[in-house]
Amino acid sequence: MIARVIVDVPSRQTDRPFDYRVPGEISGWIGVGSRVGVPFGGRTLQGFVVELTEDAEVSGNRLKDIAELLDPIPPLSPDLIELARWISIKYCCTWTVALQAMIPSALKGKAERYVRLGEQRNMSEGLWSAELPEELLETVRKQGNIKLTALQQRFPAHSHEIRMALQSGALIEDVKVKDRLSVRTVLTVFPPADREAAEQALAELPARAAKQRELLQRIMEQTGPMPMQALLAGAGGSASSVKALADKGLIELREVEQQRDPYAGRDFVRSQPLPLTEGQQGVLAPIAAAVSERASRVFLLQGVTGSGKTEVYMQAIAGCIAGGRQAIVLVPEISLTPQMVERFKGRFGDEVAVLHSRLSQGERYDEWRKIRHRQVKVAIGARSAIFAPFESIGLIIIDEEHESSYKQEESPKYHARDVAVRRARQHGAAVVLGSATPSLESYMAARRSQEGAADSAVQSAAHLPLPERVGGRPLPPVEVVDMREELQEGNRSMFSRRLHAALAERLERGEQSVLLLNRRGYSTFVMCRSCGYTAGCPHCDISLTYHQKTRMLRCHYCGHAEPSPTACPSCESEHIRFFGTGTQRVEEELAKLFPGIRVIRMDVDTTTEKGSHEKWLKLFGDRQADVLLGTQMVAKGLDFPFVTLVGVIAADSSLHLPDFRAAEKTFQLLTQVAGRAGRHHLPGEVVVQSYTPDHYSVRMAQQHDYDSFAVEELRHRRFMGYPPFCRLILVTLSHEQLPLLAATGEQLAEALRAQAEQAGVLASLDSSKEQAVEILGPVASPIPRLKDRYRFQCMIKYRGGVDAAALLQAALAPFQEGTKDKVLFSIDVDPQVIM
Ligand code: ADP
Ligand code: ZN
Ligand code: ZN
Repeated sequence: MIARVIVDVPSRQTDRPFDYRVPGEISGWIGVGSRVGVPFGGRTLQGFVVELTEDAEVSGNRLKDIAELLDPIPPLSPDLIELARWISIKYCCTWTVALQAMIPSALKGKAERYVRLGEQRNMSEGLWSAELPEELLETVRKQGNIKLTALQQRFPAHSHEIRMALQSGALIEDVKVKDRLSVRTVLTVFPPADREAAEQALAELPARAAKQRELLQRIMEQTGPMPMQALLAGAGGSASSVKALADKGLIELREVEQQRDPYAGRDFVRSQPLPLTEGQQGVLAPIAAAVSERASRVFLLQGVTGSGKTEVYMQAIAGCIAGGRQAIVLVPEISLTPQMVERFKGRFGDEVAVLHSRLSQGERYDEWRKIRHRQVKVAIGARSAIFAPFESIGLIIIDEEHESSYKQEESPKYHARDVAVRRARQHGAAVVLGSATPSLESYMAARRSQEGAADSAVQSAAHLPLPERVGGRPLPPVEVVDMREELQEGNRSMFSRRLHAALAERLERGEQSVLLLNRRGYSTFVMCRSCGYTAGCPHCDISLTYHQKTRMLRCHYCGHAEPSPTACPSCESEHIRFFGTGTQRVEEELAKLFPGIRVIRMDVDTTTEKGSHEKWLKLFGDRQADVLLGTQMVAKGLDFPFVTLVGVIAADSSLHLPDFRAAEKTFQLLTQVAGRAGRHHLPGEVVVQSYTPDHYSVRMAQQHDYDSFAVEELRHRRFMGYPPFCRLILVTLSHEQLPLLAATGEQLAEALRAQAEQAGVLASLDSSKEQAVEILGPVASPIPRLKDRYRFQCMIKYRGGVDAAALLQAALAPFQEGTKDKVLFSIDVDPQVIM
């Protein structure tokens, strides 16, 4: 047998399958999706099997053997291998980088696998004992834990049965990944197996062994194993007494791998499906029909905040898993709050695996294994959960589908929404895109069936509106305060009189407030008021950010750090200070205005620690604070009954960024945060402070009017030639030497134009041609230098289903890249951030 293997070398030149011979002893184990070690250029490298075949492209005697098989069950399945290939083509990256994105990082180290027996129950039921030879069972039983490779070597004829037993859970695999992952073990005391013998021994213990007697008694009262520490904490005594009991063979003492279920021991209130409102029934029906028909249809569920989308998701999922298939729920990392997890755990219990970046590597890996080993039916997680290794997916839900965090900013630069649509097609699964403020791409796709062509990644979607809140609760009134007038009337505070009064009212009534500081576009930078000098990074053309805690200046791009100056390095003036309205400054101002006010501040600085996010929200939920102040992360998904005021400090701080999505992002953020108020019986109120109150994104957000906003914004996009009326590929080139870089940029743009010309699609987007490609640039990037490398960019704008990725690949072919003194190319297909 021959295996075609993608070897983990991050270079376009070697990004193709290489043939290897499959040695007999692993032929029963290997599959498409297996991870293997293979000899490559004198080293052994990791790779993925992408195909198994009988005939090699290389002649027999030049074929090398696969050196080792790294997992008994392939971590990836054939559909994921195929999906990775699709990603590599669509996003112009290597196949190997796409494959690597699909496996948990714990698997990237070298793993050692141990096997132990599964549940006793299965054995007595005779489910599998017939298939495994008694001798094998006895071996595992005796050793408790045996290395999988050792077991394979001893029973070479039974590889198939062992694998089946591993899949069914009759044998359990424990993985210890060397270096990367330290497995936590706990010394655990097991009660005596033979109670009678133990009671006998207890009676016979000599009088001076009083402590041992007490401990043994205590252990025998236990129904199961307990950690030694817990035992000693409860009963007193010393470890040596326990060891003495173990030496006598009365009890057993063993290191046990600690359960890394991050939600273990937490009680989730079981919830039952709610009787749906008419509106909810109306949107659930077509989704449920698509799921049961196994039709890979895409739905845009456009529902205002509080319209009961999550309940619809959960009931659609229930139907999906009742039909024997699995479901994936994607939520933005930022809104994967304990509240969200609680709702899904409460409904689906142990059938849910949760994947997010605040888990440790080991926890993430364990959650992933639950999916791979069919122990769960629902996976909820951030972007990369789209790769959850389910075998038969019936439904994929993408909540807050407009969020830019669904786009990965490093290679592979995939968009989880577009990958979801592709994966759904593989599985015959339905896709639900949910949002109160859909991306214009999805909105356009949903309206396309009525209005003809646009270019967007989602080809078409059925529009499911849910325009009202559950229970007829009104959307909170939004008041916009013109900050220019405040200033004219002599108020120099960052709080308008209106917001000040509203806060005071809440404090008096004991209600809670959420304050949002739109930090996008803000940074705290250092500037000299005498000469205008600003502190910039010596390696990047970007200003340094001031960190108050450490009094350091830091570059957010390369990590450069230096102490904040006390005098201007340029003119020696002492009038050098930091600028920008950070959350810390708002917090200080609040303390000044309302002495004794209890503020929880949530931003990147206060939430880096593991679990801190949860901790702050719990405190706020327990009404231990009057105000929750924060950046974007307070805008989403939170649901607190006593929040009756939402204040936005400066609505338009994100409006003037050099980003064609600036208005869309501003509208979305304002709408989201406004939705946090008055979600329960207390009525809510929203105060938005703005310097451009007449801008349509502010005005339409005030009226909760997405559709009018979309009409206005689409008009702009069409006029400016931006998505969703065309698509973009951004190519960024970088090099240490400016002249060489500029020349290469010109060559690339030429090559691109030549390719487009040859394909007959080089045309202005203003033209009437159906298929058109425009090449813009090269120009210096918005950040012209990064980490001592100069940067240029070319933009490809195209429409009409042109295969621009293929044009680009062809244009790039003559350029040797990757090595030290060569120009680096970075390709971003459908870029979210054009910097
Ligand atoms: P969304 O996800 O659209 O913001 P949610 O699903 O969170 O909305 O629903 C908002 C509130 O309404 C929640 O407290 C939820 O429990 C409640 N809710 C949802 N559907 C129903 C229903 N059919 N009957 C009663 N309450 C509901
Ligand atoms: Zn830098
Ligand atoms: Zn100066």
